[in-house]
Order: sequence, then structure tokens, then C-alpha cells
Amino acid sequence: MKLRHHLLLWFVVVSVLPLILLLFMANHYDRQQYLNEIDQELHGELDRLIASLEQQLARHRNLVASLGRSPAIDAFGRALQEVSQQGSLTWQYSHARRQLEQLFVDLQPLIPERAVIRLLDSNGNTVIKAQFVETASPTLESLPPYPLYELEPEAGLSKQLQALPPNDISYIRYPGHPADSAPNGRRTLLDAVWPVQTPDWRLYLLFSSMGERLDKLMALTPRLRGGEITVVEYDATRPEQSRILFSDRGGVRFSNSQPVQMQPLPGLIKAYETQPSGLLEMPQGQGRWYYQDYYPYPDRLISWIVAIRLDLTELSSRNQATFYGLLGLGAFNLLLGLLLAGYASRRLAQPIVRLAQNMRDYAQGKPLQADMDSLSSEVGQLQASFRHMTQTLEDSQREQARAEKQLVLSAKLASIGEMAAGIGHELNNPLTNILTLGKLAKRTADISPDLNNDIDEIIDEARRASRIVRGILDFARQGNLEVQQLLLCDAVGQALERVERQAYAKQLDIQADCHRRFSVSADPFQLRQVLLNLLENAIYASPAKGRITIVGSEQDDMAVLRIHDEGAGIETAASERLFEPFFTTKKVGEGSGLGLSISLGIVEMHGGRLNLYNHPQGGCVAEVRLPLCEAVEHA
Ligand code: ADP
Repeated sequence: MKLRHHLLLWFVVVSVLPLILLLFMANHYDRQQYLNEIDQELHGELDRLIASLEQQLARHRNLVASLGRSPAIDAFGRALQEVSQQGSLTWQYSHARRQLEQLFVDLQPLIPERAVIRLLDSNGNTVIKAQFVETASPTLESLPPYPLYELEPEAGLSKQLQALPPNDISYIRYPGHPADSAPNGRRTLLDAVWPVQTPDWRLYLLFSSMGERLDKLMALTPRLRGGEITVVEYDATRPEQSRILFSDRGGVRFSNSQPVQMQPLPGLIKAYETQPSGLLEMPQGQGRWYYQDYYPYPDRLISWIVAIRLDLTELSSRNQATFYGLLGLGAFNLLLGLLLAGYASRRLAQPIVRLAQNMRDYAQGKPLQADMDSLSSEVGQLQASFRHMTQTLEDSQREQARAEKQLVLSAKLASIGEMAAGIGHELNNPLTNILTLGKLAKRTADISPDLNNDIDEIIDEARRASRIVRGILDFARQGNLEVQQLLLCDAVGQALERVERQAYAKQLDIQADCHRRFSVSADPFQLRQVLLNLLENAIYASPAKGRITIVGSEQDDMAVLRIHDEGAGIETAASERLFEPFFTTKKVGEGSGLGLSISLGIVEMHGGRLNLYNHPQGGCVAEVRLPLCEAVEHA
């Protein structure tokens, strides 16, 4: 697999997985936050609803209590006692009854719903019954004397009533309501009883509300988030008789209650039995119940479970919308990320691919391509290391080639040197003889001028031949070094003195910049020989009135001397053969072709280097490098 694809694959793995995880977490978090918000809202709403219910029922209680304590009821009780004792109606009875009638008329605005107020005698018979709302003004229904409107509706009621604490409110279920006898019908609310007790008599004030005010209250209660309100009556002693008092879903109202039949109320009741207020999740995510208990009757263990049922389909669709939104965003991010990663992986991989290509090319001897900009410093270092390695390799190859060439040349020089030494010695004696004889012949008297000239010519040629022979002998003498520590600049000065005449003849300007006094270990005679050879070559190559610059410097523990002339430079054809013995481009008779080969041999024997190259601005530079002994003082 390609590096680019590797990088891309890794990007996908390290970015897509966390992205998916993040999507799910974000979605879950959003849902959880939303649910927490709803939980708080709905629990708050339940609190408010229960407070309103309590307010409504407290109103009823207050009404019954104040009615039970009212003088009109007291007066009526006394009058009724008298009537029952006398067996006939009295004017006090009529008066008390009128007062009572007035009282009920006055109560009319306080009871704006269907309700019945009864006064029961100690036997549970109804002596007065007032109905509210159904008639424009409440009417008292009873017959004189000691008239009974209704008889005790159920045996044992009077006993139940007698057991109630006097002058206090209690709740019972009065059995004489017509609604209770209807099939499935039963009033929702219990009836409030206030036993009016004096030492002589006892009456019961019974207040029965149909629950219409509570229905109105429920109708006015806002349904937060579309929640449906349900109120269930729960009797801990008879839980199976729990009833729905109010339900948005089933259309059940307080004024029209029915037993629990609908699902999933049994679940709600079960949850309520475990925990009186809280939250119930419905199966398969259908929704949830928020519920709280409320005890409407102070003397009874009957409670109301006030609950709000929330449908979660809206939440799910909202959640789904958020999820798809996040998914879209994630997909967009992923696409963008992939594009960027594709680009980045290409950018990252390209320099490495190019480097690998370069390595292959290098191995096959092809030219290298330029490196590409790399995004990482490591790849940059790799490229630099490769370049450095190739450079070093090329340098060492060059060095090796040079050394091999040098080896061949040295071998050549050695054999030539041997031969030259033999020839030199052999030629030296005859030449000395020619010179001596020539000089003797010149002393001869009456020598013709022509002959004299010829003899001069012979002497000159013999001297030239002798110079060549000396050169050959110098060449052969290499290897016998008498080394001593000397100043390079001094040696330069001495050599310059020797070539002064030749330089003057060509009117050359020789500039020697050799301020530092470099000390080198060298054979003074041989070093001078080298400098003379190089200076003579520079003078020969220089045009008339040209300039020769000599600069001495230090570089890496080496003394470096450069002799730069303004001549035509080294001919291309000659550059390869400069150091070969007897190679010369000079005219016949002017050069022996031994100068550079002798000089190279001497310099290398001193552990130095000799190099000739053309200067970029023209002319030739002869460069001598010799190991430095130490820098003495400044000139
Ligand atoms: P010779 O001087 O007798 O020719 P050398 O060995 O000194 O022998 O020089 C060999 C050749 O090197 C010369 O013939 C010449 O072609 C070339 N050469 C040496 N020095 C220079 C220089 N300064 N400028 C141009 N060519 C040079």
C-alpha cells in the first residue's frame, strides 16, 4: 500500500471513529438535557396543580365549617328540637327556617356549581335539603311538622354519623345520591359532614359537591408540552377500587367519574405504591408519567394520584431532527477532513516518494531531481542527509580517482626518474667536455670571427643542454629531502629575487601579499625549486605589463599560496596532462615539460598539494598547500 493511502487510512480511522462517538454522545446529551428540562417543568406544574386543587377543596371545607358554626343553623336546631318535643310547628321554627333560607340565598355566589346541602337529624333523616345551581335560588325541601325530606338512606348511617367528632369536619360517602344508583355511576368527591352538637340536640350538616368547580379548574390548567392530566383516587385499604377521577385521555371528569379500566393506569398505581411521587417510563418509549400524591381529605387515608402523561413522540422527532442535523454536520466535516487529509497526505508523501526516486536514480547513475518542500522537518533532514551522503560519496570517489591517477603518475615519474638520472650522468661529462673544449678553442689565436661565432653557438647550446640535464637530474634527485622549519613567505621572497630579471623584461607588476609568516617544514632548496617553476610559468603565461598576484593564507592547518597571473589560462586539452613529465605547450627550446611534474612530486613529498586551475575572472591560479608548522609573528 502506498504511503499516501496509509496516511489517509489512518486519518479516517482516527477521525471517523471519534466523530461517530461524538455524534452519539452529543445526541444523547442533548436528549438528556431536554428531558431534564421537561422533568423540572412538569414537576413544577404538578406542584401548582395540587396547590390549586387544595385551594378549591379548602374553600369547601371553610364553607362547611363556617356554615356549621352559623347562628342560623343553631337557631334552626333549637327550633327543630322544640317542634319535635311539641309535635307541632312553632313560629320559632318558621322564623329559623326563613333565616336558613336567607342564608342559603346569600351563599349562592359562593357555590357556583351543582351542590347539595343537607341537614340530617340525629337519626340520619334529612330534614332540610338545599340544591344549588340547579334552581335559580336554592329551595328548602321539607314538610311540617317535623317534616322529613328523606329518610335515613341506609341502615347504620346514623351510627356512622354519631361516631364522628362533633363540631369538626369529617368526610363520608352519603349513600342517598341519585347519581350513585346509576350504572357505573358514582360521585367523585366525598361529602363533608359537620356534626352540630349542643347538650340538648345534634344535627348534621352535609355538603355534597359534584366536582364541577374542579373540572373548571382542570380546564383552565395549561397542558405543558401537550401533557395529559389524570387524577386517580387511591384508597390504601382497597387499592383495587381505585378510580379515575379525571382524565384528559378518557374524557373522564370529576363530575362524571368511573372506575379505572384504561391501560396503563395499573402500572402507574404500582409505581405509586413503590414511590408516592416521581416518574414512570412507559414501555417501548411510548412516553412517561410524572406523578405526585395528594391527600384531599384530612381525616381519610384516601389519596389522589395527580399525574401528567407525556407523549415522547414529539421529543423523538425533535431528537431525530437534531441527530440528522449533527449527522449532516459530521458528514460535511468528514468530507472536508478527507479532502484536506488527501491533500496533506499527498504533501507529506510526495517529498518521500521523490527522495526514494532520487535514491533509485542515483543508484542507476541518473541525474538527481531537486528536492520537494517537505512539511516535516524529519523528511527535510532525510533529504539533507541523502544529499550530504551523495556529496561525500562523490567527493571520496573524486579523491580516489585523483589518488589512483597520482599513483600511476608517481610510478611513471619513478621509472622516468631512474632513467633520467642515468641519462643525466652519462650526458653531463660529454657536455662538460664540450663546454671546456669550446672555451679552450676560443682562446686560440687568429680565429676567424665566423668560427668564433660558431664556437659561441656551440657553447650556448652546450649550456642549454647542460640546463636540461640539470633539470633531469633535479627531477631524479626528488626523495632526498633535507627538511627544516622555514618561513614560506621568505622562500617566496627569495624565489622572486631570482625571477626579477625575467619579470622586468616583460614589465610585469608582481604583487606579493604574504603578510603572515607561515612556518612550514620543508627542504629549502626543493621548495625554492617549486616556487621558481610556478613563478616562471606565470611570467611566461603573462602578457607584457601584466600583473601577477601572490597571496599567502592559512586554511585548515595548511599554508596556502596562490600565484595568479593574467595569462590565457590552461588550455582545455592540456588540463588533463599538466603534471605529466615532458608535457609542455611551450615553443620548442623554451620548455622542458618537467617543471610541474617535479614540483608536484616535491610538494606531495612534503605532505602538501599542488593544483592548477583557471580563475573565473581569467588567468591561471597555481595553488600550493603545505602543512603548517605554526604561525609565527605578523610581518
Ligand atoms: P614547461 O614550463 O617546461 O612547459 P611545466 O611542467 O612547467 O613545463 O608546464 C607544463 C605545461 O603547463 C606548460 O607547457 C603549460 O602548458 C602549462 N602551464 C604551466 N603553468 C601555466 C600557466 N601559468 N599558465 C598557463 N599554462 C601553464
